[in-house]
Amino acid sequence: MSDFDCDLFVIGGGSGGVRAARIAAGYGARVRLAEEYRVGGTCVIRGCVPKKLMVYAGRFSDAFEDAAGFGWSVGQPRFDWSVLKQRRDAEVTRLEGIYDANLIRAGVEIHPERAVIEDPHTVRLVQSDRRITAAHILVAVGAHPVKEPAIPGGELGITSNEVFELESLPERILVVGGGYIAVEFAGVFAGLGSKTTLLHRGAKLLRGFDEEVRDALGEAYAQRMDLRLGRTLQRLERAEGGIRATLDDGTSLVVDQVLVATGRRPNVAGLGLERVGIELDSAGAIPVDAWSQTRVPSIYAVGDVTNRANLTPIAIREGHAFADTVFGGKPAQVDHRLIPTAVFSTPEIGVVGHNEDTARACYGAIDVYRAAFRPMMATLSGRQERVLMKVLVEPESDRVVGVHVVGHDAGEIIQAVGIAVTMGATKADFDRTVAVHPTAAEELVTMR
Ligand code: NDP
Repeated sequence: MSDFDCDLFVIGGGSGGVRAARIAAGYGARVRLAEEYRVGGTCVIRGCVPKKLMVYAGRFSDAFEDAAGFGWSVGQPRFDWSVLKQRRDAEVTRLEGIYDANLIRAGVEIHPERAVIEDPHTVRLVQSDRRITAAHILVAVGAHPVKEPAIPGGELGITSNEVFELESLPERILVVGGGYIAVEFAGVFAGLGSKTTLLHRGAKLLRGFDEEVRDALGEAYAQRMDLRLGRTLQRLERAEGGIRATLDDGTSLVVDQVLVATGRRPNVAGLGLERVGIELDSAGAIPVDAWSQTRVPSIYAVGDVTNRANLTPIAIREGHAFADTVFGGKPAQVDHRLIPTAVFSTPEIGVVGHNEDTARACYGAIDVYRAAFRPMMATLSGRQERVLMKVLVEPESDRVVGVHVVGHDAGEIIQAVGIAVTMGATKADFDRTVAVHPTAAEELVTMR
């Protein structure tokens, strides 16, 4: 195809990079991929996958409690962190091996070291100091957690990266932030039995989500943990038996770990972008067009480093579309408008489409259908938490433009509902769908 050493050099072996490399290789491209840490990237190694395993672990405490109402006596449950850690880490290593093997089977040459951009067609492997030329370079280096703002003693806090390295379950943990990562881990630690404090600067958790969803999560979390809203962390310092965290209202608490989950930033430092004239946007991300192409025609970027929608399935789609376009002769773009998503808090949240505020801003009038109820299981378990379901309909077209679920299996439910919403289902389509009885999800088709 060319005089270059390869047709595609992928920097970064996470969700987006691996998908792009495999698909491109499948089209016959000569592909190389550099990964400085572990193939699999954030999602597999220290994100979605090990996190979800921890979410499962944390939810057993509810199950043990609920079982009593059904006649079970389960004694005093005990949790062993080292068992979970060892088994979780083994599973991550297994998946890493599968990712590696799939790349090799596809014919991709893997370089287990850092790569940086030298010029529009050259990358340098930092450790071995080798230069490799490529017709195309794909930057898929992801993002990293940041601790905001910088405070005295900030180094005593850990991020979601280090959570997976903890050797013991913290008896007391302070989680800072109100986004996906903070609410998910606060839920995990509360479920595992840590005395958990969740501290967020805003008045509600999960900015950008539907207000009623935010309220429902806030109510549930206030029951499940020490929830402190509208407060910020001022200082961390070592104290007798732990870390003292001082808040802006002058109060303080002593904990064993402080998990700071205040956002993530693209991994662009030292990548050589300035050498090729790629300037970053205001969020520090690589600007790309709808084809994931940067202003340098031979250099593309996908995934969190572009800060479009920072979700694994989106990075995978972007990587796939890039390979289809550049190597498959099948031009493809990713539609970022309608993205079903789940927050694996407990209770879980599933969302597709608009929230009530953005729907009103977009369409003016909007019909809101809502159901808030105790799930059937709670009638015997005695658990007080309620399920919330909300369907937003644009009245003129009757189209369903948003669905929100808070409760058990919300992520599973929203994946299926997401198909209907993506297809442009109307409220009448929902109404003529026969209910599956008795389920919680049947409420979605019986709201009138
Ligand atoms: P988010 O951007 O979602 O949340 C960051 C949180 O930190 C917000 O609550 C924000 O508050 C708060 N914050 C930011 N800066 C400060 C500051 N200076 N002081 C105090 N608080 C601050 O980031 P996450 O790290 O939670 O997650 C990153 C991304 O990863 C997500 O957006 C999501 O795309 C992805 N992700 C997806 C998951 C899933 O699909 N289930 C799971 C985990 C991550 P405020 O709201 O006031 O700005």
